[in-house]
This record gives sequence, C-alpha cells and structure tokens, in this order.
Amino acid sequence: MTSAFSPDVRSALNERIRFYRELGIYDFYRRGTEVSEASATDATPENAYPALSPLLQPELREEMSARKSAAPTVLTPTASTLEVLTSLPERGAADTATALRIIREDLGDCTRCKLHQQGRKQIVFGVGNPQADLMFVGEGPGADEDAKGEPFVGRAGQLLNNMIKAMGIRREDVYIANVVKCRPPGNRTPERDECETCSPFLMRQIAAIKPKVIVALGAVSAKNLLAINAPMSELRGRFYDFMPRGGDPSWGGTKLAVTYHPAFLLRDPRQKGEAWKDLQMVMKFLGLNPPAKSPE
Ligand code: SF4
Repeated sequence: MTSAFSPDVRSALNERIRFYRELGIYDFYRRGTEVSEASATDATPENAYPALSPLLQPELREEMSARKSAAPTVLTPTASTLEVLTSLPERGAADTATALRIIREDLGDCTRCKLHQQGRKQIVFGVGNPQADLMFVGEGPGADEDAKGEPFVGRAGQLLNNMIKAMGIRREDVYIANVVKCRPPGNRTPERDECETCSPFLMRQIAAIKPKVIVALGAVSAKNLLAINAPMSELRGRFYDFMPRGGDPSWGGTKLAVTYHPAFLLRDPRQKGEAWKDLQMVMKFLGLNPPAKSPE
C-alpha cells in the first residue's frame, strides 16, 4: 500500500509521536474530521491535536510549543495514520511474555526521569507470571532490589512472599512490579514527576498482563494507580474498578485493592491482621481457599 505522506512528513510525524510517548502520552483521540491543509499550516500542538491539550501540564505545553516552532515541517496527519503510528508496539504481540519483552525493550536504558542519575545500579522492571490473575504493585526498588534487578527481594520481599504463600499460591504465580523502576536515593519516596514519567510503563505492563486483581502495596502505589489522594484508612477495604491508560477496551479492566506495604508491616507488625483482611477479600474474589493461619 502506498504511503499518503512524503518521507519528510512521515519522519516529522514519527518524531512528534516519539516525543509524546516520552511524555508518557500514548492515547490519541480520533477527531471528527481530518486535519485540513489550511488548519495544519497553523498547527500548534494544541490546535493540531486539540484533544491532547487538556491532558498536558502547562510546562509541557510550553515545551511542545517550543519544539513546534523549531520544527520546519508542517504535519498533515490523518486520523487513521495517527492511530496506526501511535499504537503501542506490544499490541498485536503473539503472547503476553512477548508483549512484556517489547515493553522492556522500549524502556531501554531509560533516562526519562532524574532517577536514572541518582545511583541506580539497574532498572527493576518486574517479575512473575505473564498470565497472572493477581498482580502486586509496590512503590519502587530498594537497595536489595536494585542490586538484584528484581522487585521485592529484601526483607519486605520476604514478607510479601509469606503473604502470597498464605493465600495458597506461589510467588511464581503472580506478577510483581513497582510504580518507579529505579531506586530512589536513600529509599526516599518517589517524587511526583518520577512517578508520572515512569508509570506509563507500569500501565502498559498491566494492560499486557490483564490480571483479574491488582493489589496496590502502600499509599504511594495506590495514589498513583487510582489518582486519589486519601489516607490508607479510606483507601483500603474495598475494590476499585481499574483500567490502565491504553488498556484494551474489550478487556473491561480489572479490580484493584489496596493494602499496607510490607515494609510498613515490618515496622508496625500490629497491622498484619488488617493486611490479611485485605488479602482475604482478594482471595474471595479470586476463589482462592484461605488457609486458616494468617502470614507471619
Ligand atoms: Fe526511567 Fe522509570 Fe527509571 Fe525514571 S524511574 S529513569 S522513568 S525507568
């Protein structure tokens, strides 16, 4: 099939889309009508892609405007071309493992946020069963995870393993990931810009795996996934309907529950009983038979 665009326009269009993806924007909306030549010659990022504008922070809009004024090529994309070129690369992958591999390759040796230059040894992508019904999402890697390249392998990881075992399943049965994939220095809480930059990759992991339930471990994970600013006491104890950005609409999304981060439970073991209640709610939903004893 012959391309409707010249090589220059295709190249500029790809560059624009790559820029959006670096900003964490993967979804483009179909416009009612195609962009006309006349309107395209006056294209700013806002009026060329009006549906994107409300999604962008003012500073991003400014940055995009700056890039636009430096760009020599006028873009004349059609809606269908936008859809093709902005498709997530893992869509159409033969299986979930391949999709996750594509997402990991896309992440590359990531330098998208400042955590890449604050002492990380390696990116901690995620681990587990690509077909998992249950996914745990933590906050970010700690020292042990950074050293090993795998989430939840230190003391908190040991407790998480015990929690999973107490549910009657194995660590290998679930998928485990974090909101940010590089260790924040001194194990500090990841900052908002770091979470916002990294979380699109988590969303893509979730969209690929399509778990039946996600358990957000701790307030940072819960607030980033749900975009709700509330205390743990309000976040816990119920299921949320969750659809990751870019998720397949035919999937219908997943359930999300919130519980305490294992590191918090190590500091305050009295809350283990509360966490166990959260896990029992998840087990009931998944049809898992709760063993009699709660995790130690
Ligand atoms: Fe990239 Fe995420 Fe690491 Fe930031 S935390 S550098 S966005 S992989």
